[in-house]
Amino acid sequence: MAIDFEIPAEAKAIREKVRQWVQDECHPAEQRLIEGADYKTTLAELRKKARAQGLWCPFIPPEHGGMGLGPLANALVQMELGQSHLGALSMNTQGPDDATMMTLLAHGTEYQKEKFLKPLLNGEKRICYSMTEKAAGADATGMQTKAERQGNENYVLNGEKWFSSAASVADIALVMAKTNPEAPRHQQFSTFIVELPNPGYRIVRDIETMALESPLSHIMGGGHSEVKIENLVVPAENLLGGEGNGFAMGQHRLAYGRLRHGMHNIAMAQRALDLATAHVTKRSTFGKKLSDRQGVQWMLADCAAELYQARLMLLHIAYKAEKGLDMRQENSIAKVFLAHMVHKVVDTAIQLHGALGYSQDTPLARWYTHIRSQRLVDGPDEVHRWTVGRNVIKAFEKYGTTASAAGGDLI
Ligand SMILES: Cc1cc2nc3c(=O)[nH]c(=O)nc-3n(C[C@H](O)[C@H](O)[C@H](O)COP(=O)(O)OP(=O)(O)OC[C@H]3O[C@@H](n4cnc5c(N)ncnc54)[C@H](O)[C@@H]3O)c2cc1C
Repeated sequence: MAIDFEIPAEAKAIREKVRQWVQDECHPAEQRLIEGADYKTTLAELRKKARAQGLWCPFIPPEHGGMGLGPLANALVQMELGQSHLGALSMNTQGPDDATMMTLLAHGTEYQKEKFLKPLLNGEKRICYSMTEKAAGADATGMQTKAERQGNENYVLNGEKWFSSAASVADIALVMAKTNPEAPRHQQFSTFIVELPNPGYRIVRDIETMALESPLSHIMGGGHSEVKIENLVVPAENLLGGEGNGFAMGQHRLAYGRLRHGMHNIAMAQRALDLATAHVTKRSTFGKKLSDRQGVQWMLADCAAELYQARLMLLHIAYKAEKGLDMRQENSIAKVFLAHMVHKVVDTAIQLHGALGYSQDTPLARWYTHIRSQRLVDGPDEVHRWTVGRNVIKAFEKYGTTASAAGGDLI
């Protein structure tokens, strides 16, 4: 009996619809922005159209106004949306909001869902996630921000955060803080819903990064903020998921966020390979088209192989998610692979474009500076490889072979 790689007709149809959506609506809207159109109006029009066509919050259940797509269909949709920087925004499935909506949906009280989740799902508000501090990133258990209970009514938070993506455009922040320093390491932290703007949550600056910015980047939520948290009063009813559960909820949220980055990486790498291929079929040097040179064909072939592996990894993970199987090992392997994959493919596309690739006349240079962050965000390479490596050893100790930690249950 063969493995069935056939994508269900329903998922194929929705992928096709989203592919058309990106081509017919998102790319032209991107162009209008470049030509000076107003961002807020453009996005509002795009969202209205998307919603009218049923293209809205792909993985959110229909009873909450979403499309209710399962992991496979959602992965296919995200792989299309990543082709345009308005793609995910147009369907209200942009990071960091999407994974944070997921957390509110899974752990929010009825009050929290009504007051905070509903406007997010309606696209009326945006949310950011403040976990990382200068004091602690890869090892988030080093967070120093404290939350102290003040009677039955409130918590008061003090500390700092940095690299809170989209904080400067957000209306709500999920903030992690230490509530019990005596508890076991992973149960010391809780998550609070904070309404913005708030005098206790002060954005010190949007951090300048190596990513090429346009004036629109920050309006669109591309900025990453440094935040001072000073006597931030949070009503006790805004504690999310109970005291001590912040860390576990954060990991659940990041597990999806990592994969969504990977899905968008595939879309970006695919577009980079398309651009490179279009270029080499037109450009001639030394009397021959670049595309006729075997060395160039090898470069394209290596990119195709990278993309093929990336797709298979994501689809296998989607399959595991559909079946409710443990996919933590594959998630970490794919997170690292996909971050390197997009880097290699975009780098090759720049190389094949020559000086044009280095210029800002194609999107490649901008992408290149953005995707470097993929090896750092949601856990740096080394931390995932550390986990993966430990699982390899554990598998060997348990079964006498490392196969189960290396995708071996596939064969
Ligand atoms: C573009 C961008 C957006 C982000 N958005 C958000 C956000 O919205 N919200 C949020 O809370 N955070 C966000 N972050 C922060 C991100 O999650 C952290 O940068 C990440 O967890 C790494 O933490 P760090 O930068 O403090 O690195 P550190 O913890 O200082 O680690 C530095 C380096 O040390 C190495 N290292 C660390 N631990 C180990 C180990 N055990 N073994 C071997 N080597 C190791 C790795 O090479 C690592 O890159 C964002 C970061 C970036 C770059």
